[in-house]
Amino acid sequence: MKLNLNIQPLSSWIKTNNEPLLIAGPCSAETEDQLVATAHLLARTGRVSALRAGIWKPRTRPGEFEGIGSIGLQWLKRAKEETGLPTAVEVANAKHVEEALGAGVDILWVGARSTVNPFTVQEIADALRGVDVPVMIKNPVNPDLSLWIGAIERINNAGITKLAAIHRGFSSHEKSAFRNEPMWDLAISLKTIAPELPLINDPSHITGNRDLIGYISQKALDLDMQGLMIESHIDPTVAWTDAKQQVTPEALADIIEHLTLRKPEIRNADVKDKLQELRNQIDKIDDLVIQKMAERMKIVEQIGNYKKDNNITILQVNRWDDILQKRTSYAKALKLSTEFTEKLLELIHAESIRKQTEIMNKDEAGQAAEKLTHA
Ligand code: PEP
Ligand code: MN
Repeated sequence: MKLNLNIQPLSSWIKTNNEPLLIAGPCSAETEDQLVATAHLLARTGRVSALRAGIWKPRTRPGEFEGIGSIGLQWLKRAKEETGLPTAVEVANAKHVEEALGAGVDILWVGARSTVNPFTVQEIADALRGVDVPVMIKNPVNPDLSLWIGAIERINNAGITKLAAIHRGFSSHEKSAFRNEPMWDLAISLKTIAPELPLINDPSHITGNRDLIGYISQKALDLDMQGLMIESHIDPTVAWTDAKQQVTPEALADIIEHLTLRKPEIRNADVKDKLQELRNQIDKIDDLVIQKMAERMKIVEQIGNYKKDNNITILQVNRWDDILQKRTSYAKALKLSTEFTEKLLELIHAESIRKQTEIMNKDEAGQAAEKLTHA
């Protein structure tokens, strides 16, 4: 599947000097001094293409700091006048859109808590109709690719073609080192079905921890994402929101300095040949895997028929436990990760069950139809 979007390239709306786009700034605008001073330090790094700041903050609990509000737009205006950095804010309703555009904000973004709600996204989309402004859409809080796609489509349908997606990770009940699980496969899926849509990573909200920002940033660039949005505060320890994940402009420059930029296209002919040779080997193995899967499913069909003829249930838990245990220990000996092996086996097992269910039901459906015609 490919999405049918009308998208302009990133370079048509922001200067990146042929480097990954870097958008940086505080989680929240707190005071005029904090915002303007942070902006000056960020501009001085020479790495930052746009200044971000939350003015209206979606907070989990009432009573927490909910953003400085409209006055912050004037501070952003001043920061832009003094540094030349274009500005970006989060908008969560039509009023935010109007106010931000009225105050000359250059880029808008839809936050993760808004992307989950089609009513909210549609309200924002309607407010954007007829306006030529770049919009970035964060992934929804929950790991649902369709909601992310739906939000992108709604904004694009409103005529916004300067679009980007922001990957900020997903809520998960599993305990991990990250505030929001990256679930890279979801970002890769989006990139696969919408290759022309710029994808930007937000390591601040993924990690929730400034020490891990470099690590996630590198991973994002290695996956050929086109930019980073990183929270930066003049004095992160006293930040009013997201204190643990913000970095000083100086630390940000250091993180960026240590990133390795890799190119998706291969220039060196020897490297290209070697890679092609390795890819040919992989292609052959993949063909074999497919062939073996087809052979396996043919046997599954025989088993299904046999179980049906002998009135045996499709699922026998002991047998499945046995497969899982034996294969994972074999795989482990071959240096495959248990997580990968289990996932692979579960996928194969699910398909085997589906096939056998089909066999069991086939004749039953046929017999029921026959009974009906003879009734
Ligand atoms: C933010 O960027 O400060 C923010 C609130 O992010 P998210 O919508 O990703 O939680
Ligand atoms: Mn934040």
